[in-house]
Amino acid sequence: YLAKENKTGIQQYQTGMSKSLSRKMLLEQYLHRAIEHDELYLEYQPIIDVCSNEIIGLEALLRWMHPVLGNISPGEFIQIAEESDLILKLSNWVLFTVCRQRRYWMDQGLAYFYISINVPAQQIHQDTFIETIKRALKQYKLPAEFLKIEITERTAMTNVVKALTTMRELQEFGVDIILDDFGIGYSSISYLVQYPFNTIKIDKSFIQDLHHNSSQKSVCRSLVAMGKNLGMNVVAEGVEEFEQYYYLCSIGCDKMQGYYFSKPISQDLVESLTNHIYTVKL
Ligand code: C2E
Ligand code: MG
Ligand code: MG
Ligand code: MG
Repeated sequence: YLAKENKTGIQQYQTGMSKSLSRKMLLEQYLHRAIEHDELYLEYQPIIDVCSNEIIGLEALLRWMHPVLGNISPGEFIQIAEESDLILKLSNWVLFTVCRQRRYWMDQGLAYFYISINVPAQQIHQDTFIETIKRALKQYKLPAEFLKIEITERTAMTNVVKALTTMRELQEFGVDIILDDFGIGYSSISYLVQYPFNTIKIDKSFIQDLHHNSSQKSVCRSLVAMGKNLGMNVVAEGVEEFEQYYYLCSIGCDKMQGYYFSKPISQDLVESLTNHIYTVKL
């Protein structure tokens, strides 16, 4: 091993495997203090109803800007956080920050759109989860319909009975549940219909090569039809191009999210965007 001091003062081992291991350990260590050091923030990505051309919701997406390492992608740090209890701390921060932000926007008269948060398995299966959600909503005097939670198939499938109970309780309280990244998990359709999702969000991998691949078109059409037949809202994520937008419209998918409309944006930009709601790109 060639141990070397880097500018953070922590030893990095320069062999391939231990290099990535030490980055991981370094990130985990820094992540513990990220909230206290004010390094976390949220971006918001609009979800558009393409019939009315309105922003019906925003997905809150967590960002981490480390003063030395720079921006670290959620793909990297969320996974690290999920391997320990750290994810609970981050998730709670997201929940309360989103409720506070939404209350602020309510007070500014932005009264229509919801904000959805990504909820990992550890959080939804916490015994205190529902209480915490209620506490956050109460603290900011926020009606439950302004908050939605996104869970993946995998999360829905871990501890099925408990997941179902929690979902129903949240829905009775008025918090909708969105199935995120639908289609890439391993759940069969017959499994899915047992779950009372309000919305399914078709994973971006299906949208991405729509126009290169005609069988992908059939898959997309089936997913949209199935969601609708089950009485669920259907959102397509990762819509980047006009052709994708156009095809999705033609098969009756009327809610979309993706770079074609807007990248995830800062809270300030949300305000100017929602002030010009009818000028969203079309
Ligand atoms: P996700 O929940 O499926 O979020 C959608 C991801 O797709 C986001 O990536 C978003 O920036 C990206 N995206 C949106 N539109 C497009 C598009 O048109 N093209 C492409 N190529 N990508 C698009 P991001 O922000 O990097 O987040 C990645 C994942 O990290 C999220 O996937 C989610 O699983 C996780 N994540 C993000 N924020 C949170 C959080 O607060 N809590 C938890 N537990 N997970 C989070
Ligand atoms: Mg999501
Ligand atoms: Mg998603
Ligand atoms: Mg995804």
